[in-house]
Amino acid sequence: MTADLSALIARLEAADIDQAFWSRCDRSGGPDACWPWGGYRNDRGYGVLRPAKKRAVRAHRLAYAIAYGGVDADKLVCHSCDNPSCCNPRHLWLGSYADNNRDRQSKGRSKSTFGSNYSGPRPVRERHGSAKLTESAVNEIRSSDLSGAALARKFGVHEGTISRVRLGQTWTANPLPPKKSTLRAKQGEKT
Ligand SMILES: [Zn+2]
Repeated sequence: MTADLSALIARLEAADIDQAFWSRCDRSGGPDACWPWGGYRNDRGYGVLRPAKKRAVRAHRLAYAIAYGGVDADKLVCHSCDNPSCCNPRHLWLGSYADNNRDRQSKGRSKSTFGSNYSGPRPVRERHGSAKLTESAVNEIRSSDLSGAALARKFGVHEGTISRVRLGQTWTANPLPPKKSTLRAKQGEKT
């Protein structure tokens, strides 16, 4: 975990994390919904905290660090929900830069395809990395001893999807997609 994040979490703990951080996320949709950051967002839609005289920290990165006990400095915190301002730890997964690029490409939102302010429809089938997996495939992945790479080949998905399924971060028995139109509209107001 970076020193900046550690120091910030320590200060937030002193100030009661629930008040200081989570209360600034819109959790009204419930535990499985997106929790958009209610504070400042940058031009790419990411929530940002600007602690006095410290480097700015992305809200979802801090959310991950608080929920899971830290973030390695060389790792990215990625969204399975494709909603940059979302801070719900259930929608966050830890990936490398390569994972994130693959994920963006598979979702059809690499920069060359969609600008950062693009808010129109996206390719539906690819919106979630695990969209191609059936319930039985998910069960098989979770009980399999095969490597992530082998399972990725077998099911025709990328390896990050396999690891997220194994961690229980992308697939639920009742996958209700978040109301993206509402969320996008909210983001639109900020930009
Ligand atoms: Zn989300």
